[in-house]
Amino acid sequence: MPLQYDLPVVVPRFPLHFHWHPQPFSFCSTMNDLTKLRNIGVSAHIDSGKTTLTERILYYSGRIHRMQEVKGGEGGATMDFMDLERERGITIASAATSVEWNGYAINVIDTPGHVDFTVEVERSLRVLDGAVLVLCAVGGVQSQSLTVDRQMNRYGVPRIAFINKMDRVGANPTSVVEQIKSKLNDSPVLLQIPIGCEQNFTGIVDLISMQAVYFDGPMGEVVRREAIPDGLLEFARSARHEMLETLSLYSDDLMVALLEESEIDVADIRAIIRDATLARQITPVLMGTAFRNKGVQELLDAVTQYLPNPTDREITAIDLDAEVNVGETRTVRLSNSPDDPLVSMAFKTVAEPFGQLTYFRVYQGSICRGDQYVNVRSGRKVRFGRLLRMHANDRQEIDMATAGEIVAVVGVDCASGDTFVSEGIKVSLENIHVADPVIRLSIEPAKRDTADRLAKALDRFRREDPTFRVSTDLETGQTIIAGMGQLHLEVYVERIRREYNCPCIVGEPRVAYRERPTKSYEFNHRHRKQTGGSGQYAHIVGRLDALDEDAEESIEFVNEITGGRIPKEYIPAVENGFRQGLAKGPLCECEVVGVKITLTDGSHHEVDSSEMAFKIASFNCMREALRRTGVALQEPIMKVEIEVPEQYQGPVSGYLSSKRGIITSSETRQGICVILGEVPLAEMFDYANELRSMTQGRGGFSMEFARYKQVPKSIQDEVVARRREEKQAQVATS
Ligand code: GDP
Repeated sequence: MPLQYDLPVVVPRFPLHFHWHPQPFSFCSTMNDLTKLRNIGVSAHIDSGKTTLTERILYYSGRIHRMQEVKGGEGGATMDFMDLERERGITIASAATSVEWNGYAINVIDTPGHVDFTVEVERSLRVLDGAVLVLCAVGGVQSQSLTVDRQMNRYGVPRIAFINKMDRVGANPTSVVEQIKSKLNDSPVLLQIPIGCEQNFTGIVDLISMQAVYFDGPMGEVVRREAIPDGLLEFARSARHEMLETLSLYSDDLMVALLEESEIDVADIRAIIRDATLARQITPVLMGTAFRNKGVQELLDAVTQYLPNPTDREITAIDLDAEVNVGETRTVRLSNSPDDPLVSMAFKTVAEPFGQLTYFRVYQGSICRGDQYVNVRSGRKVRFGRLLRMHANDRQEIDMATAGEIVAVVGVDCASGDTFVSEGIKVSLENIHVADPVIRLSIEPAKRDTADRLAKALDRFRREDPTFRVSTDLETGQTIIAGMGQLHLEVYVERIRREYNCPCIVGEPRVAYRERPTKSYEFNHRHRKQTGGSGQYAHIVGRLDALDEDAEESIEFVNEITGGRIPKEYIPAVENGFRQGLAKGPLCECEVVGVKITLTDGSHHEVDSSEMAFKIASFNCMREALRRTGVALQEPIMKVEIEVPEQYQGPVSGYLSSKRGIITSSETRQGICVILGEVPLAEMFDYANELRSMTQGRGGFSMEFARYKQVPKSIQDEVVARRREEKQAQVATS
């Protein structure tokens, strides 16, 4: 088969000098053609270089005119526009930004890397059509990549992997590819091989066109394609053959062509890669180094070539007008036509000085400036006054955004996750999967007269982030915030101080324990009260069982009443009373989960029974049942991944074991030991400091929620005793 490597071609992509200013680009010209639009996310384990890569994408596409490094320096990367993110060096809020590449419009949705903010990742994935998974050439597939991968699978997002940091000592793309196979269970297809490695990494060989590709100029902006160096030719040929063999699993034509050793067209190879990527059969793998400006333009080409456009994905919405049985839904398929009624989702809200800025993804129809749309959740009509296309730091006023596009709207009061439609249709885009919070703390303003600011801030954050919960402890009157981890809550407390000028006093972080029944219990409870006029009467009989640990629902209610022994209209009140009774368990007032309640019998009184009587009966019945049946305490267990220099492996592992942790694996590569394990969250407070002092600041770790697990009895007793003492102290001071 004649290969195309012997044609040295230089392809400068734009007239280049360091401060390159592109011609103003009209998005509308490409937006009419949805096949030229890509909505992509960039997701990664923290520190893999996602922000640096995004920054390079903005630079090469002409959206920013000079590069800033992520950490230190002036102001940080353009996508990390919040002060706080700059300081912490992590990207908290997702920002959508539009760029242009070779006639394609690409909306880059920045997704946060830290697991405490997974809801942001999930939200972004919901509106993406494709994603770039950034992996570190040394670290490979790390814990957050696994989490993100699971999320991508849930939303069916096709992706490309980019092995970054090829310049780092210990860079090993072969190992990363192996890990994509073994850890992510994906079929990676290497489209490139490196030219040199570590500090000698100078470019890549494109195995499709069989050309060497180099990135010249001060910022790597000149892409130079030429013949593959002689020393690499043999290896490149065999790598290409391997690539084609893998691809032939997805194309009979390619299989035949390979067997017949006939010529294979570059365009055909690309089409096969695209189809298999869209079907999520393969993950194309590219490589480079964002920091040293190599490989990013090739990645952008791959985004346009292999990731889906909005018409490639089937989008459905729940039809709220459909007549279906309770608990069932019917979905309708949405069209990509700009002329159909609007269906769009608000996927992110940001408070700005001039009002709320809401990012929308348009799934069907068009959003036009000045028109009114209906918020399906509230039923309210809202006028969309100003539409913006967001770039990294600047924004462009537009009149219209059509199906497939992402647009920001100014001054619309809504919550993220809300569906907006044209008047006359009633559909809702499904809800986003939201995890339960595992940590909580009390919060109060440092100065009394700033209480309203705190209330305003909490209200806003609660609306923006469904994993951030706010409640009031009825007994102590304290405001409690709950979230996905210590950092998650710390960030909000800090933002309240800065953005709302409201310093706060927070309590010790508390683990969100749960209580779970251990045995079944049969109840027969009668509520009867006679006070002067009409009395109260309710009688319920049934059973409380413990649900399986892996049951979908945490509380299940089954009504087996027949013959109207308890009239139908009282059943919801019975269920309601039970659920309220489960809000605080008998051990230490934690939420009770894992309960199945079956209502089998009961009786009522024609005059004295009421909804209220049945609710009181079931509430008291549940409280008593829980006390009698016995409950066990459950605690959140976290999955941790710790990276330390080899010499610290012993002490770090020993410490984890002493904290009731289990080490699931540890692996040493290039002097760095990666320890994976599971540890109760209660033992991990202040771990960042502990690890720092154990490793002289050379260790790093990440942590995410894994599951709830029963607490050993001795520790349960300690927790219960401590909580009771605290409660008494709180009640005494409040
Ligand atoms: P993020 O947490 O995934 O957004 O990662 P950042 O973009 O903040 O990068 C983390 C660190 O890795 C920063 O110090 C970057 O300068 C550095 N970095 C990013 N890309 C590369 C690369 O290609 N090579 C090397 N050696 N360092 C990189």
